[in-house]
Amino acid sequence: MTYDVIIVGGSFAGLAVASQLRGKMLLIEPYKIGEHQTSACGTPLGVPKGLGLMDSVLQVHRELVLHTRNTTVVVDVSETPFCTFDYRRFCNGMAEAVNAEILRAHVLGREGRKIVTDRGSFVGEILVDASGWRSILENQREGFDRRRRLMNFGIETVAPRKGDKLCFWFDPGAFPRGIAWFFPVGNGSRIGVASYVEENRLAPPLELFLESMGLVRKETHGGYFPAALQAATMGDIFKVGDAAGQCLPLTGEGIRPAIYFGQACGSVIQEILDGGITLEDGLKKYRELVIKHQRIYRALWLAQWLAANLPPQLATFLLLLACRENFLSYIRPRYMRFADPKGLKPVPKEMRNRREGEIGATPEAAILYRSEGDKKAARDPLRGIEGSEKRGREPVKHLGGEEVHAGGW
Ligand SMILES: Cc1cc2nc3c(=O)[nH]c(=O)nc-3n(C[C@H](O)[C@H](O)[C@H](O)COP(=O)(O)OP(=O)(O)OC[C@H]3O[C@@H](n4cnc5c(N)ncnc54)[C@H](O)[C@@H]3O)c2cc1C
Repeated sequence: MTYDVIIVGGSFAGLAVASQLRGKMLLIEPYKIGEHQTSACGTPLGVPKGLGLMDSVLQVHRELVLHTRNTTVVVDVSETPFCTFDYRRFCNGMAEAVNAEILRAHVLGREGRKIVTDRGSFVGEILVDASGWRSILENQREGFDRRRRLMNFGIETVAPRKGDKLCFWFDPGAFPRGIAWFFPVGNGSRIGVASYVEENRLAPPLELFLESMGLVRKETHGGYFPAALQAATMGDIFKVGDAAGQCLPLTGEGIRPAIYFGQACGSVIQEILDGGITLEDGLKKYRELVIKHQRIYRALWLAQWLAANLPPQLATFLLLLACRENFLSYIRPRYMRFADPKGLKPVPKEMRNRREGEIGATPEAAILYRSEGDKKAARDPLRGIEGSEKRGREPVKHLGGEEVHAGGW
């Protein structure tokens, strides 16, 4: 079976690419869309707003709080608020704009234009890698060893503790060379720790952190998140989202870039399908678009390097300095203008009103139907959290001597 476009990965980046495409498309994702959450799902409110997915928002945040060992700084972000959202509802909303066959399968690799999965092989004229940090279409072992050095690692759990602000902790004494967060999501919160240098032994600091709030760790998810922009194309393959290192260093904000670059990539591919430009020109156009944003990645990479490598007191001092209003008024608008959600294309309303079962309903690839159960789950705002607790186990990573669900390692 030959497709115009095959997209590997059905999360933020893959769905954003697919949402811009017409033509014969296959999207390959091992899990039901929206089932496999690995993120705290905090993002500028402009993102769900721009996409027309406000019904996925769990809580709006107008203040960010940064705790260091001795100081607490509250940053007013009411002009460009943040939010936390329900992963399942958000992804299903994006999927409704997708006119693709959705195959539930693991991609194992590729042979030229043929994508090999555990459910057969499929040929695509244009291939997109949106498989996250695994970047599955890249030469696996060799590619991963190289990219590993450019990635952070984080884990998080959910707790029934409510809150009203997005909180971060930078305390090198408690979390050496990393950060911790507390993201309220309405009736509970997502609480996690991340390391800028170490992928192991995050479970003990997470447990201590939870203990300090009188909470216990439940099922934990997480994974790598890239900290350095990578090439946006590899040969004649488009790479989007974490697969192309588009997650921002230091803050670990990867959803907004994955959707922004995903939509841009999808538009370029549609131009190719329409015959307006060649594949070669399309690859170049997408590469050039991504590289224009290189500056913010470099600046944040440097800031992350300083946070991880300077003596703790100096790193803390510089961070607090950056939070002073005169510096913040320079940094904040530049950070928020990047991948400006105002430029996002909304999920077309007429697509969102399609009948249940029409999404990706194809006889041969089979595949994603929204069932009654899914609809019920989507109405429950805490389902995203509980879902992550109930998820089946996958191959695991060992953290602090313990097995932790690592999002499909
Ligand atoms: C603990 C943690 C918390 C985070 N919190 C935030 C946050 O609050 N806000 C934020 O902006 N960013 C956050 N991030 C970063 C953010 O999650 C990523 O940058 C973002 O998910 C990237 O989107 P993506 O679509 O590129 O990749 P992913 O979301 O990783 O999606 C990749 C998709 O590819 C699929 N896939 C993988 N392997 C295969 C295969 N072999 N075959 C087919 N499909 C495959 C996966 O199942 C998945 O659906 C966090 C990251 C971590 C680890």
